[in-house]
Amino acid sequence: MSKRVLITGGAGFLGSHLCDRFFNEGWDVICMDNLLTGAKSNIAHLIGEDRFSFIKHDVTNYIVVEGDLDLILHFASPASPIDYLEMPIQTLKVGSLGTHKALGLAKAKNAKFLLASTSEVYGDPKIHPQNEDYWGNVNPVGTRGVYDEAKRFAEAMTMAYHRFHGIDTGIVRIFNTYGSRMRLRDGRALPTFFRQALQGEPITVFGDGSQTRSFTYVDDLVEGIYRLAMSDEVYPVNIGNPEEITILDFAKEIIDITGSNSKIVFKELPEDDPQVRQPDVSKVLKVLDWEPKVSRREGLMKTMKYFKEQVG
Ligand code: UDP
Repeated sequence: MSKRVLITGGAGFLGSHLCDRFFNEGWDVICMDNLLTGAKSNIAHLIGEDRFSFIKHDVTNYIVVEGDLDLILHFASPASPIDYLEMPIQTLKVGSLGTHKALGLAKAKNAKFLLASTSEVYGDPKIHPQNEDYWGNVNPVGTRGVYDEAKRFAEAMTMAYHRFHGIDTGIVRIFNTYGSRMRLRDGRALPTFFRQALQGEPITVFGDGSQTRSFTYVDDLVEGIYRLAMSDEVYPVNIGNPEEITILDFAKEIIDITGSNSKIVFKELPEDDPQVRQPDVSKVLKVLDWEPKVSRREGLMKTMKYFKEQVG
């Protein structure tokens, strides 16, 4: 019998790539999503397959799944700054109530539970690069706090279920990731810059563009998450590509790759926008023998094809 995995947020950008990966590894995949930011088109190619099912459900409410489960990947959440600014209550609820419900299900089914956490738990970090032992610098009452604190609570809840109920758990701290199925208008730098460059619009760099990010290609991330799900590691693991770039240089890179004539314009920096972000990947290399395989340039070239179709 195949193993069964429930993927919450399974119709989202990362969730749908995880549906593909587990399906291709021979698992029975149950995709659960309320389609708030996810889209059925991301999983359309799996619908109708025997080993795949879709349940439309908001995981902040009690979750019902018939039969056994071996693994739960809890990936439901708005995850772009614009999304969680527009949906602050839903973001807080899915990170808190949703994580509680998904953990309760893991306990009832005796399934392993893997939490999608984020580099945002480090806030605007005072150490660089960020390692898993750093506790972060988060503003709880700022507009980004709804996401950061929800994910911090989710990590605490996951550890409590591990310690108190003996649930087999894992936590991945995901850094900026990109690839196909990202929404063109989710407000993040990468899809926004691609769209602007491909449509010949000005590229909107926030602040002076000196803030840094480190971008991971989705296939690399999925490989790391798959390895983490198969491992016994309980404490958080950063997964991200440590190739760091300033946002201004990144805007220039997108202009270069797309061959666009777009000019760069500067806009106000959003509240609590992290000044730097780069994963320390020594732990993931040691415990999962994982390192990124796809360089930023290569990943961006692959992703450009997808964005061209979206814009077209
Ligand atoms: N950013 C930008 N222009 C945009 C959108 C974002 O300069 O149109 C900046 C944003 O202020 C941040 C960085 O790009 O410093 C990455 O932003 P993103 O929204 O991708 O996610 P974050 O890493 O902040 O969660």
